[in-house]
Amino acid sequence: MPEAPKILSDSGDCIDGIVVENNNKVLKFIEDVTADADEVQRRVLSEILSRSANVEYLQRYGLNGCTDRETFKKVIPVVTYEDLKPDIERIANGDTSPILCSQPISEFLTSSGTSAGERKLMPTIEEELGRRSLLYSLLMPVMSQFLPGLDKGKGMYFLFVKSEAKTPGGLVARPVLTSYYKSSHFKNRPNDPYTNYTSPKETILCLDSYQSMYSQLLCGLFQNEDVVRVGAVFASGFIRAIQFLEKHWSLLCKDIRTGTIDSKITDPSVRDAVMKILKSNPKLADFVEAECSKGSWKGIITRLWPETKYIDVIVTGTMSQYIPALDYYSNALPLVCTMYASSECYFGINLNPLCNPSEVSYTIIPNMAYFEFLPVTRKDELTGSISEPTALNDKEKQQLVDLVDVKLGQDYELVVTTYAGLYRYRVGDILRVSGFKNKAPQFNFICRKNVVLSIDSDKTDEVELQNAVKNAANQLLQYEASLVEYTSYADTSAIPGHYVLFWELSVKDSTLIAPSVFEDCCFTVEESLNSVYRQGRVCDKSIGPLEIRVVQNGTFDMLMDFALSQGSSINQYKTPRCVKYAPIIELLNSRVISSYFSPKRPRWTAGHKQWCTQN
Ligand code: AMP
Repeated sequence: MPEAPKILSDSGDCIDGIVVENNNKVLKFIEDVTADADEVQRRVLSEILSRSANVEYLQRYGLNGCTDRETFKKVIPVVTYEDLKPDIERIANGDTSPILCSQPISEFLTSSGTSAGERKLMPTIEEELGRRSLLYSLLMPVMSQFLPGLDKGKGMYFLFVKSEAKTPGGLVARPVLTSYYKSSHFKNRPNDPYTNYTSPKETILCLDSYQSMYSQLLCGLFQNEDVVRVGAVFASGFIRAIQFLEKHWSLLCKDIRTGTIDSKITDPSVRDAVMKILKSNPKLADFVEAECSKGSWKGIITRLWPETKYIDVIVTGTMSQYIPALDYYSNALPLVCTMYASSECYFGINLNPLCNPSEVSYTIIPNMAYFEFLPVTRKDELTGSISEPTALNDKEKQQLVDLVDVKLGQDYELVVTTYAGLYRYRVGDILRVSGFKNKAPQFNFICRKNVVLSIDSDKTDEVELQNAVKNAANQLLQYEASLVEYTSYADTSAIPGHYVLFWELSVKDSTLIAPSVFEDCCFTVEESLNSVYRQGRVCDKSIGPLEIRVVQNGTFDMLMDFALSQGSSINQYKTPRCVKYAPIIELLNSRVISSYFSPKRPRWTAGHKQWCTQN
């Protein structure tokens, strides 16, 4: 396992020569592992399997200590989370025997993907933190090839931790980034000009999202002239920060003017950390006040942080819906997507970070895990039918190809085997091969399999949506009304975005149904959706109240006529359960009779339903 290149001189100071030398080392590392991708993959698999020779899962399938690809592929099944759930539950309940991995499970990472409405639990091991750090350490040397001088300023990144829970067996369960920010890899990182952030770690580690956001913005504004890049993990998070500023800039200016911190910030460690940076600066307060009170927020990022060269946020996949808002706030600064990762494994990086967001492609770094690819046909991608993922048949299993064997232009579902004990695990992402860096393929992120609706990190699939709608529509039966057809879309025209459902009803007497009945339906849908959605509504407030728009009778027939006029086949036509195409949304909106919003927030608690919460 190659070490993450270090950037310290012996004295602990960073000097230009060392930065350059380190960048070169990183670039050489990327050259080497991509040139030798197949051999690296062979080694990775052999290393994982020899270390795990004694684990129950591999013994169950009779791998018998073999470490070669052929035997592995012959005997080990390709699985989904549901297949692993019984094993994962044993670990969560305290079984410490080597079930999936020979090394001790250090914690669970709670994925934003869900199973039965709850976040998926991904077991992980201590050494994976090193692998994640390695991937992070590649990003800035790549970026510096395109934009020099990034080591001379700071990054204003809005980073947050989320609440943790404990499994019945005593393991911590938390999101992967919370785990990373709380680790010594992040907290005690060496002096490095590329990880020099405006936010002190105490502000990032504060669980209260108001205090964390406020203090990070205050520090970012106070150091505005040092900032050369800004960002968050996802585009939605960065926009949330700008909207927070829109609401709270006058308080922030007061703090900059007086050199004190608002009394709503009560966390002592946050107050201490901020007060080490903040000093009274009336001139800066006047400047920020003047910019924020101008009325228009167009270009606010470049106005307040004039040295900013780019915005570092993920805008691929469903996050592309936020590109227009980011362009507006930044006067079209480059939007840079640096990496592609998940709770299961960190996958790859963007070697051409200044490219257009629609062209972003990620190069898989071959030593992160062992990767396989299941070909996906366009037909699979488009089927409107509601189905749970099914087990692969023998023919499909044989179609899985290795990293270096994928074909340009072809779509694949990603399958990983990790050091932490996932074997041939279907991640659920669909990727398209867009090119190669040496022997390592590069991929466009196409979509998350089955996901129909997403505003923030929520990923609602068709089955969940269908069940939630069914639960709500049942309430109409007592009014002699029933749901004829429905579809949905993620409305992000205002922030926070919200789910919209279009409902066509069969109603005997519409005067019998009070608006509160439909509001209750909105609420029932929300209560029935997964815990990541409800967390976004309740805790993060990153998702607005769900809306039902009742449409005139015959609307869904018109929708079908429209699809047929665009070339769909009448035999295969199925009502899409989510719509994205603007003319269709316009058509639906033109037929709305009435609309209703969820009147309250759904229930949500940290951790799985049956666990106690830690924080
Ligand atoms: P989680 O398991 O909650 O960490 O979420 C990981 C998932 O987020 C991935 O499997 C992808 O579906 C999505 N994701 C991560 N990075 C990117 C990216 N750069 N572009 C688009 N989607 C991403």
